[in-house]
Amino acid sequence: LVHMRQINKAFGDHVVLDRVDLTVHTGEVVVLIGPSGAGKSTLLRCVNGLEQIDSGEIVIDGRRLRYDEKSLNRMRRHVGMVFQHFNLWPHKSVLDNVMTAPVRVARRNEEKARANALDLLEQVGLRQFADRYPMSLSGGQQQRVAIARALAMHPKVMLFDEPTSALDPELVGEVLAVMRDLALSGMTMMVVTHEMRFARAVADRVVLMADGGIAEQGPPTDVLDRPASERGRAFLRQVE
Ligand code: ATP
Ligand code: MG
Repeated sequence: LVHMRQINKAFGDHVVLDRVDLTVHTGEVVVLIGPSGAGKSTLLRCVNGLEQIDSGEIVIDGRRLRYDEKSLNRMRRHVGMVFQHFNLWPHKSVLDNVMTAPVRVARRNEEKARANALDLLEQVGLRQFADRYPMSLSGGQQQRVAIARALAMHPKVMLFDEPTSALDPELVGEVLAVMRDLALSGMTMMVVTHEMRFARAVADRVVLMADGGIAEQGPPTDVLDRPASERGRAFLRQVE
């Protein structure tokens, strides 16, 4: 579903992604781990066009990523992204946060968008908070709204960049549970996280990035329990 071939990305003379090849299949859950500065966020931002690659190619659902506005808009409907900071619209209700883009951007019928938004809020356990405002919710609840908002565009792939890193520890589990259910429903996902238990339980494949490249990848038990590379061993000694 997502194919990256020999992608390069530099900021000035600092090479952040160095000839990265990565394919994510439909329905697959890929967890990206690795030290700070390895290029994990940059990789996700390249997949949804927030950063432009210098060379190589990214193909999403059979279509090569291009950077004119029309192509970017079309591509972003297929790629949902959830960040560390949820960036909900503070002056819109929870329901409006979820249904605004489908109505305004995708020009969906308002009643259908509302019904779909309520279904999604049910899915993330927040149906009863539809009329509340983001400020009156906990961080974990806000992040679940952000997930529902991304899902409202019916994306083919969901990208998560440390979705639980800004949360108080007791709120992490409810967000991971929503992500696990989403994975079980067959969603294709790329997830940057430090939650190794989540990686073990949910990932089909763990990709360990270091220095702008993929140091190793494979089933979670292989990569997390018996890393083959020195970089992998060094990183995992720190986190576990
Ligand atoms: P972390 O675990 O800390 O989030 P990361 O693996 O997500 O790290 P990136 O955010 O992708 O790492 O950053 C990779 C490198 O690229 C870092 O050295 C960072 O300073 C640099 N970088 C990222 N974005 C920019 C930018 N817009 N301009 C210049 N340098 C950048
Ligand atoms: Mg990052």
